[in-house]
Amino acid sequence: MKDPNNKKFRDPQLINKIVADLQKWQQPIKIMEVCGSHTMAIGHWGIRKLLPPSISLISGPGCPVCVTPSSLIDELIKLKGVKIATFGDLIRVPGKEETLEQARARGLDVEIVYSPLEALKLAEKKETVFVGIGFETTTPGIAQTILLAANQKQKNFSVLPAFKLIPPALDALLSEEDLSLDGFLLPGHVSVIIGSQSYNLLPHKYGIGGVVTGFEPLDILRAVKILTEQIEHGEATIVNEYNRVVNRDGNKVARHIIEEVLQVNDALWRGMGLIPKSGLTINEKYKEYDASKKYEIMLKDEEAKTGCRCADVLKGKIIPSDCPLFASKCTPANPIGSCMVSSEGSCAAYYKYER
Ligand code: SF4
Repeated sequence: MKDPNNKKFRDPQLINKIVADLQKWQQPIKIMEVCGSHTMAIGHWGIRKLLPPSISLISGPGCPVCVTPSSLIDELIKLKGVKIATFGDLIRVPGKEETLEQARARGLDVEIVYSPLEALKLAEKKETVFVGIGFETTTPGIAQTILLAANQKQKNFSVLPAFKLIPPALDALLSEEDLSLDGFLLPGHVSVIIGSQSYNLLPHKYGIGGVVTGFEPLDILRAVKILTEQIEHGEATIVNEYNRVVNRDGNKVARHIIEEVLQVNDALWRGMGLIPKSGLTINEKYKEYDASKKYEIMLKDEEAKTGCRCADVLKGKIIPSDCPLFASKCTPANPIGSCMVSSEGSCAAYYKYER
């Protein structure tokens, strides 16, 4: 029978048993939860408080709004005579001078949409640029919308591609000398598309294990337990704990749509700079739907000097409360950096759950 409340993944007896086991762990270890949805779930379920002080869960770069460079906002604000269609979180992200929300208040045509299909519909009335941010989870739907636009011969629609890929970002993170990590909680949603085998570089290249897991308390605690067992036995492998949703090879249909429309490129990440082969752009066949070509948009690796430590938060070098602006000058009502804006941002999660 269907379990609408996922009760079996919230069973208090099972939770208490795993927590009791984990409480015996003494060796200091750092585990990174890559995905913003995991950061929110960990805060929501109070998981950090259930773990012993020897196990640190630190947040990583898995929030698409957070890693989008602020020059993308600046370039969008320069666009004239078009409608900008975007997912909601992005409109409050500060650019160099202002946010899209502030620019909208002085007349820029910005509309919040909940899917790229809505943006395609808007293009029937006015030239529309859809802001293409997101990880592997979001890209198939946007690529499918570009196929639909091509099918409809819709000339008024384009996408500004700022798509990101998770495995190359983890590769770049682990290349940083001053970051020591002992394991990863790997993103459930992204893995539905790319499959659990996509993370094999973690054990093979760096000798670090990872667990693909879901968002319920038992999912997260089981994943932490698996990682402690690997560390205890000197092993490093990728384990798929979320096999009710994720398989080894991912979703072949979604991957085929991505391959038809998009191609891998080097991508700019806020706070992490240019990471080789860590993004997707629109390929030659569908170039007329590429807003970066249509409007000659080039993103720059420049961030305003505000004192925001998002770059260090995204790399797991500090936790949000280490930022001097956290919960004083920077709050969800007045965000200084993108990590406080997004509903998946680490600073927003710490503000809501961990203060
Ligand atoms: Fe940036 Fe605000 Fe987070 Fe500090 S608390 S790192 S200013 S987003």
